[in-house]
Amino acid sequence: MLPTLSSRDSVSLLKEMDGNDAVELGVTLHNFAASLYPICRSITGDGIRKTLGMIGERIPLELREVPTGTPVFDWTVPKEWNIRDAYIKTADGRRIVDFHQCNLHVMNYSTPVHATLPLKEIRPHLFTLPDHPDWIPYRTSYYKEDWGFCLSHRQLLQLEDGEYEVCIDSSLDEGHLTYGECYLPGQSKEEVLISCHACHPSLANDNLSGLSVATFLAQSLSRRDLRYSYRFLFLPGTIGAISWLAQNRESASRIRHGLVLTCIGDAGGFHYKKSRRGDAEIDRAVACILRDFGGPSAILEFSPYGYDERQYCSPGFNLPVGCLMRSVWGTFPEYHTSADNLEFIQSDSLAESLRVCAAIVDVLEGNRRYVNQSPYCEPQLGKRGLYKSTGGTAIGEEINARLWVLNFSDGEHSLLDIAERSGISFAAIREAASLLHDAGLLIAVSDDDAA
Ligand code: ZN
Repeated sequence: MLPTLSSRDSVSLLKEMDGNDAVELGVTLHNFAASLYPICRSITGDGIRKTLGMIGERIPLELREVPTGTPVFDWTVPKEWNIRDAYIKTADGRRIVDFHQCNLHVMNYSTPVHATLPLKEIRPHLFTLPDHPDWIPYRTSYYKEDWGFCLSHRQLLQLEDGEYEVCIDSSLDEGHLTYGECYLPGQSKEEVLISCHACHPSLANDNLSGLSVATFLAQSLSRRDLRYSYRFLFLPGTIGAISWLAQNRESASRIRHGLVLTCIGDAGGFHYKKSRRGDAEIDRAVACILRDFGGPSAILEFSPYGYDERQYCSPGFNLPVGCLMRSVWGTFPEYHTSADNLEFIQSDSLAESLRVCAAIVDVLEGNRRYVNQSPYCEPQLGKRGLYKSTGGTAIGEEINARLWVLNFSDGEHSLLDIAERSGISFAAIREAASLLHDAGLLIAVSDDDAA
């Protein structure tokens, strides 16, 4: 017995989102990013804990703590890093570089230091961007113990020879690596993974845009009946994904579709980097939605460098996980500098990114196969009131979509197949299938039969 299509299948998350004020949505997303912006995050420590705590005020989030020294595949969970203060002071006691003014001033994961040194000895520990003399670079030293300060090149040029007091009041101790996990159960135990890195300090596009969009996507999904179960991971880049995979091989085997979200708040067009498989349903779903949205976008082939798709797509896992971005990391000058700030991300870009994510979810949730119950010649749509479009045109896109769905609903072709082949938007194809189903002309193939 084939099950009938339940009413929830016809509810589009994108439509639900479009029922809200788009401007207000963007402002909400931007405000949330702004509230996380001042926190000094790193791959371990209280900054990421505080960030996860704020995400947890909006969605059901479990915090996981993995002890320092835990082996995770070929890696080891590092010491926990925390920082209270850091500065460079002149001989007369003026703070000329101050961590409390901007947390990028300290090389992330710096070991503690407190000394008075001549400039020439401090110089190898100072990092600037001569090409952008007003910007502060973002530097890390996670896996090599070192200390350093980042400052604008203009400021460096103003430093006079002489002695300076350098202080980094940080600690690197046995502790934990922390990540957050939000699991939303659906009808199926098969999972959709949404993963974001949460380890960057005051950087807006690279980090906070993904966190904000993923948080509000999880929030809207948490109120719905879902076909798939959804797992949102907020974790430190690289070591966090490796730790999660090492400790959750069972859950990882249930991932059917996945997305890494990052750099999705700037004004650039969308870029989607395909999974290692290259032809996974998520790869096709994202390509179809970017086509349907119609703005500038590009599809990139998989490469083993980038964000945490590197880990999810490592050959032992080879999960169907792609990476959705607007501007690609490393290609915009603001990347990993103080110019990746709250002005660089825009509320309307964030809102559009969330809408694209909602449309992708709609594909995953709604991509089913149907069987046409009247396959011998076209069924007469007119007598069912289905041969006129609400737009008033004789053969508009709506009727065209119905004909495409009827013709290709042979139990083999999915709605995504039909949307791709017809050039008609997935939303219109899904809407047509819903109407035809309600008219008794289609029945859905169950997920079990399709497997
Ligand atoms: Zn980064």
